[in-house]
Amino acid sequence: MSDSDSTSRIVPEEDRQGPPPPWRVEGLPDEPPQLAPRPSGVGLLPREPRFWIILLGLLLLNWFIYSWFAGGQGTARARVSYSQFRTEVDAGNVEEVTSVGSAIEGSFLTPVKLGIDAGVTVVLFRTERPSLGDDKVIDVLLAKGVTVNAQSLTRPVPFWQNLLFGFGPTVLLVGLFVVMFRRGGAGALTGMGRSRAKRVDNEPKRATFADVAGIDEAEDELIEIVDFLRNPERYQRLGATIPRGVLLSGPPGTGKTLLARAVAGEAGVPFFSLSASEFVEMIVGVGASRVRDLFEQAKKAAPAIMFIDELDAIGRARSSGAGLGGHDEREQTLNQILTEMDGFAGAAGVIVLAATNRPEILDPALLRPGRFDRHVVVNPPDIVGRRAILAVHSRQVPLDEDVDLAAVAASTPGMVGADLRNLVNEAALLAARRHRGSVCQADFTDAFDKVMLGTARAITVSPAERERTAVHESGHAVTGILMNPADPVRKVSIIPRGASLGVTLQAPAADRYDYDEAYLRGRIVMTLGGRAAEELVYGNVTTGAESDLEKVTQIARQMVGRWGMSAVIGPVAVLPRPGDGPLLPGVDATSPRTQELVDDEVRRILDECYVTALGLLADHRDRLEALARLLLERETLDEPDIYAAVGFARPGSSTAS
Ligand code: ADP
Ligand code: ZN
Repeated sequence: MSDSDSTSRIVPEEDRQGPPPPWRVEGLPDEPPQLAPRPSGVGLLPREPRFWIILLGLLLLNWFIYSWFAGGQGTARARVSYSQFRTEVDAGNVEEVTSVGSAIEGSFLTPVKLGIDAGVTVVLFRTERPSLGDDKVIDVLLAKGVTVNAQSLTRPVPFWQNLLFGFGPTVLLVGLFVVMFRRGGAGALTGMGRSRAKRVDNEPKRATFADVAGIDEAEDELIEIVDFLRNPERYQRLGATIPRGVLLSGPPGTGKTLLARAVAGEAGVPFFSLSASEFVEMIVGVGASRVRDLFEQAKKAAPAIMFIDELDAIGRARSSGAGLGGHDEREQTLNQILTEMDGFAGAAGVIVLAATNRPEILDPALLRPGRFDRHVVVNPPDIVGRRAILAVHSRQVPLDEDVDLAAVAASTPGMVGADLRNLVNEAALLAARRHRGSVCQADFTDAFDKVMLGTARAITVSPAERERTAVHESGHAVTGILMNPADPVRKVSIIPRGASLGVTLQAPAADRYDYDEAYLRGRIVMTLGGRAAEELVYGNVTTGAESDLEKVTQIARQMVGRWGMSAVIGPVAVLPRPGDGPLLPGVDATSPRTQELVDDEVRRILDECYVTALGLLADHRDRLEALARLLLERETLDEPDIYAAVGFARPGSSTAS
């Protein structure tokens, strides 16, 4: 059973996904496509299926027209035998004949039945006159009053037909190719339509500053860049140096990519983007040359913005890092980036923006003047910012009058732009699923649960397990309320979600940037409260508290090893930052003895906190059990119910100070 708190991060939903790597472009002017060199061996003809279908269709059409005309009227005439023809002549049933060489074409007066079952009737006929001697047919015909015509053997073909059949196919083909050339520009025969489709059909709407909210300080710092891109001459005339590289740093999902896109969008310049980690992984051995290609393209399109996401993937300090495979690759790619940036003449007009959530591990060489010498910090939004971001993302969403975005913003401390976008989207999805035309506050509340607590899972839980879960979660809630009374316990639930059987959500009322020791101990006590409650009520514990233990160990180790909150260790940083980043120079020099001391101190803190939790719950056992009972009955409790059940007053206004 685990607990969420305000720091749990919803993985930002990836909104860019991969058309052919290694980089993406948007906002290029309509000019020859920026395709990577085409694979050799592609012939002169397009590979697009549509081309071949059109060609085939035209050829077929041509053939039909030709055979229709070339067959002439002959095709519409039935062949009759010469003797039958003579019979009809004798019967006076022939109206008119035309002799064409040895053939006779003509029409009957009344339709003649032909064939075995006389199923076909014929008016227009054609027959061949045998050369068996002169049967004086002309006399008979004239005697019977038949109109007789003659036509020369080489039947004159009308001029337009000649033209059509002689030149038609050629003209059609040539026309087709001309159209293609026109549409695709040069080179279209080899990559016809592809790049064009990319630019027009797949191009996302360009971002502007109107799409960015809640990170105004970062935005302000980039406005100057927009102005430069719009009026480069003004700056150049004054000899001002324009930054070549700007480093955006901040947690994932705060909008760094969005901000970079917005700069390009506002300035109306092309936006080249690449993700450094993709770059390294994808093209082993050619990373450096691809960097060169990319810079080449960008310079050609200048003024332009180039955006390198996850710069730390290639830009981490050279002395550290994985060191195993891919190391050289990374280093070469990094070197190439540095070389390219150094090589910019002042007027190149390409500004490189890069994003990282771990600026501290970057190679210092990247941060030298002329490279990423500007540093813009993108912080998670505060309550006002969250409200603005919610407003941006609900622009297209019809909201009920009861929706209070300010309240939603107040209840989402710690969420970043990507989380908030996700929240709005979930609320809209819920409203749609509930067949409503607009989104109401309840949709937001439920979406929040889903996003924060995970989706409810339909698994069967035995009654005994369910009861134990209720006790466990109530233990978290009661200790949480007692230890950190300022942070409201917003939700307790024993509906299984994700990997856990239950959840207790205690979120800070306001945005917090610093934690003191008492607060952190409070968190540890609260997190151990579930296990303590089980021990108190049942006399034993289950495996369910595993993730609780991991979480408290992590907090305690940081208190001791990084934040100097242990008297024994003193104010010494002896632990690396979380993740695989390097220690700052000199920090990794801890002795095994110190490490042991750290372990002892962590243990001491956790033991003390566990005793505290047990004591608190023993003192307030009635509250614990009251809450557990209500929870068994209702499964999920919101803030007012929780406080009513335990008989404590809710912390003051739940909005930020
Ligand atoms: P990052 O690059 O910092 O990880 P992104 O720019 O990729 O974050 O953010 C992902 C999405 O979240 C954006 O496309 C946008 O829809 C939303 N988002 C993030 N931050 C903001 C913000 N400050 N204002 C508006 N939308 C945001
Ligand atoms: Zn727990």
